[in-house]
Amino acid sequence: MLNLPTYMDVAAAAKRIEGKANRTPVMTSRTANEEMGAEVFFKCENYQRMGAFKFRGAMNALSKFDERQRAAGVVAFSSGNHAQAIALSAKLLGIPATIVMPLDAPAAKVAATKAYGGNVVTYDRYTEDREEIGRNLAVKHGMTLIPPYDHPDVIAGQGTAAKELIEEVGSLDALFVCLGGGGLLSGSALAARELAPDCKIYGVEPEAGNDGQQSFRSGSIVHIETPKTIADGAQTQHLGQYTFQIIKRDVDDILTATDDQLVACMRFFAERMKMVVEPTGCLGFAAAREMKSQLQGKRVGVIVSGGNVDMERYSAFLAG
Ligand SMILES: *Cc1c(COP(=O)(O)O)cnc(C)c1O
Repeated sequence: MLNLPTYMDVAAAAKRIEGKANRTPVMTSRTANEEMGAEVFFKCENYQRMGAFKFRGAMNALSKFDERQRAAGVVAFSSGNHAQAIALSAKLLGIPATIVMPLDAPAAKVAATKAYGGNVVTYDRYTEDREEIGRNLAVKHGMTLIPPYDHPDVIAGQGTAAKELIEEVGSLDALFVCLGGGGLLSGSALAARELAPDCKIYGVEPEAGNDGQQSFRSGSIVHIETPKTIADGAQTQHLGQYTFQIIKRDVDDILTATDDQLVACMRFFAERMKMVVEPTGCLGFAAAREMKSQLQGKRVGVIVSGGNVDMERYSAFLAG
């Protein structure tokens, strides 16, 4: 049996990261409310430090390191937001960080991770296994490996965004959360089940990679090939052991969104709310829009998970 994190861990994480993570704004839009026939509250993690909610989980996990762990350092494998979240949290806490990234990772992401003080180790994604490299580094140098989602401290940290949202706006009827490996969704579910017990909780993943939906409906973790989608933060191949147990117990359903729907949301956020949101960050609102008829007159929370998107790619989406 896994020792699953609880709401108490989310509350403890909130205390631990207070003053370090941004308390991100909750935004509303008359246009969104009119379109939806509902009151929509957007929790804007695109304004989190390093541009995504992942700072919360990373900061919580690293803040719990003991002296030995702090001295030996942290290792993470990621080419995305988790890498930057670990590098920045480690820098703020004075802990050395090693990030394992593919040789062909976007130069901007490698540069951002190095700028936050991370020591980048590259690997060939076609011939080498990053998890093995990460684990070997951990064993050889006594470093602590912090995975991007399947870790109790990461889950608890991610849950602090939904906690802040509900504490700020009051109870919700529905909450829409972007879903990759499930750290954000399981943490949000722990918070929402405690603070808004009747709230329906929905995870939303890219239609091309609906392993979470298949897992939720079949009752066991389904593995898929890396999905082809513009939602690069949700190109995970499977849920985690911890995240799946919590999702199975506390989440009401898993929905999907197409790339076209994500682009339409990206445009909506840019045009109507003057905000830059990355494709993955649009998943929640994209699914809420499709469920409009069931949300009439309701109070709806949407977690906007991040805003890290290359400007050339972003302008191509908006122009397209
Ligand atoms: C990582 C990430 C997700 C998915 O989070 P999980 O905890 O893996 O489900 C969603 N949006 C953004 C912006 C991310 O960086």
